[in-house]
Amino acid sequence: MPRTNPHKQAVNTRMLYRFEDIFFEKKHYKYLSKKASLKKLKTLAEHVWATEQIHKEMPTIQFGKGVLFAGQYVSFCNGQVIELAPHQRDMVTLLHELAHAAGNYLHNHKFVDTYVKFLVKYGEVDKKELLETMKAHNVDLPKKYK
Ligand SMILES: [Zn+2]
Repeated sequence: MPRTNPHKQAVNTRMLYRFEDIFFEKKHYKYLSKKASLKKLKTLAEHVWATEQIHKEMPTIQFGKGVLFAGQYVSFCNGQVIELAPHQRDMVTLLHELAHAAGNYLHNHKFVDTYVKFLVKYGEVDKKELLETMKAHNVDLPKKYK
């Protein structure tokens, strides 16, 4: 296990969630935060998993109430299952959780690197706009993006 600083992790998580709340509400990225069917999300997950050639079993994608975080229910990934909370049954949340499932369990540089890759590749997000917005919201970016 890498050494982690719990405070730094909590700050990174807050910054990342804040960035997500704002970025995916933009009109041209609404398709990413719009409610999608379980079938559509499963199809996307299978496509990502096959394309990335991740040598682990793909987690089961399910709808549920999620887990309580800072007073509200949010989606989670525990390795075997990705559970999408009622207000997060959308592509961006799935791509976020898949970036965890790919082996990055913390919101650290490795996670952000995979997440950026997935958003650009499968979410058709403009990379420059994405990185600039992440920077503006103090998301802790890997060195190559600084
Ligand atoms: Zn996360």
